[in-house]
Order: sequence, then C-alpha cells, then structure tokens
Amino acid sequence: MELFNLEGRVALITGGNGGIGLGMARGLAQAGASIVLAARDRDKAAAALADLRKLGGKASFVALDVTDEASCNAAVRHAVETAGRLDILVNNAGTTVRKQPEALSAEEWHRVLDTNLTGAFFCAQAAHPEMVRAGGGKVINIGSMMSIFGAAYAVPYAASKGGIVQMTRGLATAWARDNIQVNAVLPGWIDTELTRGARAQVEGLHERVLARTPAKRWGMPDDFAGIAVFLAAAASDFVTGAAITVDGGYSVQA
Ligand code: NDP
Repeated sequence: MELFNLEGRVALITGGNGGIGLGMARGLAQAGASIVLAARDRDKAAAALADLRKLGGKASFVALDVTDEASCNAAVRHAVETAGRLDILVNNAGTTVRKQPEALSAEEWHRVLDTNLTGAFFCAQAAHPEMVRAGGGKVINIGSMMSIFGAAYAVPYAASKGGIVQMTRGLATAWARDNIQVNAVLPGWIDTELTRGARAQVEGLHERVLARTPAKRWGMPDDFAGIAVFLAAAASDFVTGAAITVDGGYSVQA
C-alpha cells in the first residue's frame, strides 16, 4: 500500500544497533527503506546488519557518538554519500545514570542530557538541509514514560526525555513549511539492554511493571516496527508535533 511504502527512502537510526532502534529498523527495512545504523559499538552493529540483511533490506553502518556535533554531521553526510539522500531520521540513541539526584556528578548530568537531548538536536539540525533537498522528511524522536512521569533515580533522564517532547513540538512548528514532520514516540517498559540494567539494580521493578501494564507484559523491540513505519511513511503526512505512547497502556492505567 502506497501509504506505508518506503521503497526508495533512506533512514538514519541513531543507536540502531540494538534494542528499540533495531526494532524500528526492522520495520522500516520491511517497508522497503534503506537503513543506515549509527552508533558506537561496531560488533553489535555487525550483528544488527546481518539481521536486517536477512530480512532482505539494504543496510549499512556508520560510527557515531551523538554527544559530538561533528560526529552527527559526519553521520548524516555518510548517509547521503552512501545511500544518495536522507528522508527519515530516528533519534533513538539514549543512556541513563541511575542515582538519587543529590549523588549525581556534573559529568553524569551532562552525559545523559548530551546523549538523549542535545545529540538528538544536533542530528536533526544536520538532517534538515538534506530533508529540504529531498522535498520533505520525517524525524522520529524517542521519548519515554519519563517524558510524563518522574522517578527518584532518573532525574537527568526525565529532564532529557521531557525535553525531547518539547523539542519535538518546536521542530514540528519550525519545519512544517519544509514538509518535514517531527514526532515523538514514548515507549513504556521494553525488554532491552538498558532495562536489563534497571531490572538488576532496582528491586521489584520487573514485577511492578507487569502489575501496572494493562497488557500484562514487557514490550519487545519489534513492538516499535509499526509505529516507525507509520511515522516514516505518507500515512502520517498530517501528523506532526505529536507524542505517541507505545506502552501497553502503562500511562493510562489509574
Ligand atoms: P539500548 O541500550 O539497547 O539502546 C541504546 C542505544 O543507544 C545503543 O544501541 C547505543 O549504542 C546507543 N548510544 C548510546 N549512547 C550513544 C552515543 N553517545 N552515541 C551514539 N549512540 C549511542 O536501549 P533501548 O533500546 O532501550 O533504548 C533506545 C531508546 O529508547 C533510548 O533513547 C531510551 O532512552 C529509550 N527508551 C527505552 C525504554 C525501555 O524500556 N527500554 C523506555 C523508554 C525509552 P552504542 O553503545 O553502540 O553507541
């Protein structure tokens, strides 16, 4: 169906070498997009590329550290040079430091904000002229339940993910004239490397998530394939500035 067809489109996915980013990459590849994965760990990326190619997708990797503006610019340049254009940017790279706020160092605060929020802005800024050249584009920013809620052990993370939603609204407003739609996806609790760490550190987290999630399960990376295709495709051409939860009902449970 044309509404969901991504043949001929090129998607750059930060942190796409595992977890939610790879789940989105798998969806985009199956809809026909060429994928450029951008992250730091080459070994993880090699496995992710093999996985995408098994699905029949075109996929390549570029080294990226989103905390470095020059690296963001270089990743976008690489995508355009190797795949010919850039239509879709998924700002998915993310990290956290689990500590009470009074125990956080300045370096830890900046690392989380630089990775989750400032890095997403640098990548969007780098992508903008390429999307203008392509006649339009789609930016998908990854927020969190911490875009909505607070948690004692995740103050910089929540600040960055709240910022993602507001940045999304601002960019959507600014770039509508360029036919670029900018939206945020707010995942619930998803089984990835990031949350495996949280489950090991925060006692009772696993059970609390199951008890509070109406769907009665943790999310999986592949739960993000559908929303990625929708927000990357013509189907969402009049959707911009939205923050869409993909959480099994976690955020609407009283
Ligand atoms: P993962 O740890 O599997 O993925 C995070 C990815 O970000 C990794 O692939 C990592 O790759 C990349 N990354 C981290 N720092 C950098 C950096 N400086 N430069 C480039 N890439 C970087 O976790 P998830 O899949 O869970 O997380 C993906 C996104 O989803 C994050 O933004 C996270 O905050 C968000 N999220 C996750 C939830 C969950 O329950 N899992 C819930 C809500 C939001 P590498 O180390 O190779 O650079």
